[in-house]
Amino acid sequence: MVNQRIAEVLRNGQPDESVTIKGWVRTKRELKEFAFIEVNDGSFLANLQVILNPDLPDYETIMKQLNTGASVEVTGVLVPSPGKGQRIELKASSVKVYGEADPATYPLQKKRHSFEFLRTIGHLRSRTNTLSAVFRVRNACANAIHEFFQERGFLWIHSPIITASDCEGAGELFTVTNLNFKDLPKTEQQEVDFSQDFFGRRAYLTVSGQLQAEVMAMAFCDVYTFGPTFRAENSNTSRHLAEFWMVEPEMAFCDLHGDMDLAEEFLKYLFKSVLDKCPEDMDFFNQRIDNTVLATAENIINNQFERISYTDAIALLEKADRKFEFPVEWGLDLQSEHERYLAEELFKKPVIVTDYPVGIKAFYMRLNDNEKTVAAMDVLAPKIGEIIGGSQREERLDILQQRIESQGINPEELGWYLDLRRYGTVPHAGFGLGFERLVQFMTGMGNIRDVIPFPRTPLSVEF
Ligand code: ATP
Ligand code: MN
Repeated sequence: MVNQRIAEVLRNGQPDESVTIKGWVRTKRELKEFAFIEVNDGSFLANLQVILNPDLPDYETIMKQLNTGASVEVTGVLVPSPGKGQRIELKASSVKVYGEADPATYPLQKKRHSFEFLRTIGHLRSRTNTLSAVFRVRNACANAIHEFFQERGFLWIHSPIITASDCEGAGELFTVTNLNFKDLPKTEQQEVDFSQDFFGRRAYLTVSGQLQAEVMAMAFCDVYTFGPTFRAENSNTSRHLAEFWMVEPEMAFCDLHGDMDLAEEFLKYLFKSVLDKCPEDMDFFNQRIDNTVLATAENIINNQFERISYTDAIALLEKADRKFEFPVEWGLDLQSEHERYLAEELFKKPVIVTDYPVGIKAFYMRLNDNEKTVAAMDVLAPKIGEIIGGSQREERLDILQQRIESQGINPEELGWYLDLRRYGTVPHAGFGLGFERLVQFMTGMGNIRDVIPFPRTPLSVEF
């Protein structure tokens, strides 16, 4: 007799096999001659149906305890299921109830609950079909990210969560402090004196691991980070979190073309892996959440991404036979409506836009020979808009210094970053992928708060 996960039982269990399963009751149906419960242990979308006969010891008591939400262990024998929709079910020979769940107060009942309601019971919502499917896909995708890079010899590096670098996230940085708020030390200018803080200077939560990834790429060639990042942006949208996970590969001896090739191969790989590992969950999303989920996945896997320059993209947007809310003009950033028009309507597949105007991109992006654009690339996806942002980095010391100064950043803060150009500089490139945006994209989930177990957003932090 083995202890088994329900996924294993439902996929491979054979009639007459003895099994013990553990999990939580999803539903109970009592008939005259016997009763059914459906049990879920999080390993699989479908529940395992369990048949309970009245000759079980303590049948009456057990039936009173086995309500939705109760935790149980069931031992028995597998039998072919006469019911529709399942191959096999479990005939119980013994049942142990670990913990009851009072039906008068347990918030998750059999009916469908709105995602808004489920967010108010974040500690229980993972026991629902949709949220558990999301977190299985999230897990499969996270694992596939590591597989993809590890297969290609990339080193997983751990960029710091606490950082002293504030040049990337103007206005979006959370400060990390343990100063005494009842008695804040002040400078002569009456500003908070961070020199008396824990680190002796002001520190922040990181908004990106890229600059540190560049340090490591200059020793290991190909590296990636995969960790939490933090942004205090007050955008209460369905695509922004204050704490989200980011994947950032960085490659030495690589240009923008290599960067784009990697991004495309990467997305294709992740979609393939998730379809392979979680077919039932992906079918579920396609049926219940967004009926384009499977078609989108096939589209990503089977089509070459379109690649166009920003300048060409602007020309296409100017020719579009529809009005946009935001202006289209060379030099202005693309808004999400523009990005979606290109990916969703015009090309009907992912589009990589390259070579953006220097004025709208970060200081570290490599200046093109025309001195008007930089070697940046954004991957735009149907439905989502920007999903990846990347660039070839400026590896020339003098140009990088000029860019830093022209953006009003104090070059002394970036001495270490400039050293990478002083000593053994090489062309290099990388990109950042918002992990939750990707999971949203894969599953069709409308709100980013429903693809991370514990969402942090303006005015909301629990647990
Ligand atoms: P946006 O314009 O949507 O705010 P951004 O330009 O600020 O994005 P980047 O700084 O390029 O984004 O960050 C890299 C990636 O991280 C983005 O492509 C996106 O997928 C993701 N991302 C950025 N901000 C957030 C956020 N607040 N919550 C979740 N994911 C985010
Ligand atoms: Mn942003």
